[in-house]
Amino acid sequence: MRNRRAALAAVATAASLALALSACGQNSEGGSKDDKKDAKGSTVGIAMPTKSSERWIADGNNVVKDLKSKGYKTKLVFGEDDPDTQVSQIENMITQGVSALIVAAIDNKSLDNVLQQAADAKIPVIAYDRLILDTKNVDYYASFDNEKVGELQGNYILEKLGLKDGSKKGPFNIELFAGSNDDNNTKYFFNGAMNVLKPYMDKKQLVVKSGQTAMNQVTTLRWDGGTAQKRMDDILTSSYKSDRVDAVLSPYDGISIGILSSLKSDDYGSASKPLPVVTGQDAEVASVKSIIAGEQTQTVYKDTRKLADVAAGMVDDVLNDKKPEVNDSKTYDNGAKVVPAYLLQPVSVDKSNYQQVLIDGGYYTEADLK
Ligand code: BGC
Repeated sequence: MRNRRAALAAVATAASLALALSACGQNSEGGSKDDKKDAKGSTVGIAMPTKSSERWIADGNNVVKDLKSKGYKTKLVFGEDDPDTQVSQIENMITQGVSALIVAAIDNKSLDNVLQQAADAKIPVIAYDRLILDTKNVDYYASFDNEKVGELQGNYILEKLGLKDGSKKGPFNIELFAGSNDDNNTKYFFNGAMNVLKPYMDKKQLVVKSGQTAMNQVTTLRWDGGTAQKRMDDILTSSYKSDRVDAVLSPYDGISIGILSSLKSDDYGSASKPLPVVTGQDAEVASVKSIIAGEQTQTVYKDTRKLADVAAGMVDDVLNDKKPEVNDSKTYDNGAKVVPAYLLQPVSVDKSNYQQVLIDGGYYTEADLK
């Protein structure tokens, strides 16, 4: 029964694929000039990684809004942080005859086959925020300066501890967290932070008492806050019986919230045991509230409205035979090619500037942060 239904569904999808393809004027030659006029009105597929973090919901909504304003239809899916789910979602969108794909990968190496299917169907692919590796079938990359994100986090720690301006010498205790090892951004964030922190570690002004300093010792699968909380619990138990932790490098707000829970359950945040400096990324509401409440110290804001704009513009250009604007043609080698990229600038946010950056900048309202 299931098989028959599947077979019928396959026939139906093949038929609608044929219709959709002829409707958007594509053919095996990639479409003629006239065909391209029909790019407008076609459906663009958008694959986001998860709904468990607000930023991706905002990204998805912003991309949809931008593409609609340019005259496209959209199909937006979220992959529940499961690589297989994302692959089958993309497969479905290819079968449905989307004209282009915007993909924020869950596992940067899991998409080779499905992107070959996209290439065979002449569907251009934009890697959204996270570079997709080991495939030539990715046309453009829209992201932020990812190394700069890590530098902003590292420098913030140095400034807050008084090491940057030399007003304090330390030694201070720091622990390091990195993102998911299957996300290409992870190493850029971590390396960016380490570029600024490492000289102070070498001089023993910063000490990692857990001894865990290599990236593969500090990654956090799927950026999961609970996983980070557990690792922080273990570190506090094993390495901080009599010492205090002064700073924690955290690459993402969801991880910061997990780290803070662990610290608070070890009495940090009380008068005699102040919380350490804790960084973050994405300016998610819970973290901005935490910053206002004096718990998390910093986050790195990346305006998802701008990123969505860039990605939607890339799709529109590619579908209309125009070359999208890029500002980096050398950094993002995905193992199969250097992917031309447009990188936006991240901004460090803490209690002193959240009002100006996030509220005056229209990203949140005052009420969102109450
Ligand atoms: C993004 C970050 C985000 C992280 C976790 C990364 O790929 O660049 O902004 O914090 O994924 O979702």
